[in-house]
Amino acid sequence: MPLSQLARSIAESPTLRLNEEARYLKEKGEPVIHLGIGEPKNKTPISAILSSAAQLNAGDVKYTPTDGIPSLKKAIIRYTEENYDRLVEPENVIVSSGAKQALFNLLFTLINPQDEVVILAPYWVSYPEMVKMVYGVPVIVTPEDGTFHPRMEDIERKVTSYTKAIIVNSPNNPSGLIFHEEFIAEIVEFCEKKGIYLITDDIYHKLVFDGKTPAPAYRFTRKDPESTRVVVVNGISKIYGMTGFRVGWTIASKKVVEVMTNVQAQTTSCTSLILQAGAEGALTGLQSIVESLRLTIQNNRDVTMQELQSFRGVTTTRPEGTFYCLPDFRAYTQNSEELSNLLLRKALVVTVPGIEFGMEGYLRLSYSGSVKEITEGVARIKWALDPESPNEIYIGDRKMVRDWL
Ligand code: PMP
Repeated sequence: MPLSQLARSIAESPTLRLNEEARYLKEKGEPVIHLGIGEPKNKTPISAILSSAAQLNAGDVKYTPTDGIPSLKKAIIRYTEENYDRLVEPENVIVSSGAKQALFNLLFTLINPQDEVVILAPYWVSYPEMVKMVYGVPVIVTPEDGTFHPRMEDIERKVTSYTKAIIVNSPNNPSGLIFHEEFIAEIVEFCEKKGIYLITDDIYHKLVFDGKTPAPAYRFTRKDPESTRVVVVNGISKIYGMTGFRVGWTIASKKVVEVMTNVQAQTTSCTSLILQAGAEGALTGLQSIVESLRLTIQNNRDVTMQELQSFRGVTTTRPEGTFYCLPDFRAYTQNSEELSNLLLRKALVVTVPGIEFGMEGYLRLSYSGSVKEITEGVARIKWALDPESPNEIYIGDRKMVRDWL
């Protein structure tokens, strides 16, 4: 059966595939540890539950305006003012079904066929695929100094007259790095001078550690919301741990939002009212929830770093935010996919191969789970790889013997 060439060229989402695999193994009763998924374990904030439930109880769940219900947009405007020091109007805001859909619709709105979009490695897996889906060309820029922090000189070398947009994600999935303020200021100025869109994916912006705060690009533009090239994508999935609500948003010029609204109107019509109400509940409810989640994740980061420190040959850049780290396993193998498969098969630990993020030889580990999962997960990885670690381990109630090193 002939299928679309473009659709067939789109890679499977590795993280969602690994989720499925882990779910399948868990259902079979296998003691799987999931260090692959970026999803906190917290309960949904009560204010979100009550707000969603009130809509459902009213029994009046219909289409909403395509760009979102006015009360949620109002909460997003207030959020933008508090976190970015910028006052925007309702016409600058569009609500989508997750930051993922916001990004896709935004790229669909901005990109002509063959336009280039600069993506900074290590990058979130979906960026290159999304760019391809709108017939754009992903241009990957890897820091030449071997760090995870992007450098303007590397970016400038890859920018051409076809460059339409640059995507920046800080705090960064998968490295956990917060990009320096000077870099953000410089890239904002560079993009505005060249007329290149700067898409800032701020989905982790409050999940930061040790008193550090990310510099949001939107605060650095000297232009007004109609003429700036900086576009913000954000959402509730990560900082409120509300991944299943599927609510995200975009802040852009009225013209961009108007076209994005048409794109959304012809595809999903709108985000579910019940879920928009939940997002509004989270944004307007008690914000101590965000801080308590942040503290839990910071403690998980500390535990992860401590466990990884004693791992021979593995070096890890200390994450400053998110719930990921990207340890360097090149002392053990150059093939991160094989490594990840081995760890799943032999040690029942889910990890994501670094190659998916443009970093071969690395693995992304998520510390969004429990401390027990982290310590046991890392212990199993050590057992599977390090010949100097004891060659027997208990996985669940089974004694496992390492016989492959
Ligand atoms: N951007 C980044 C960098 C992410 O890691 C994720 C989720 N993994 C998203 C966007 C998508 O978030 P949402 O759940 O709001 O679609």
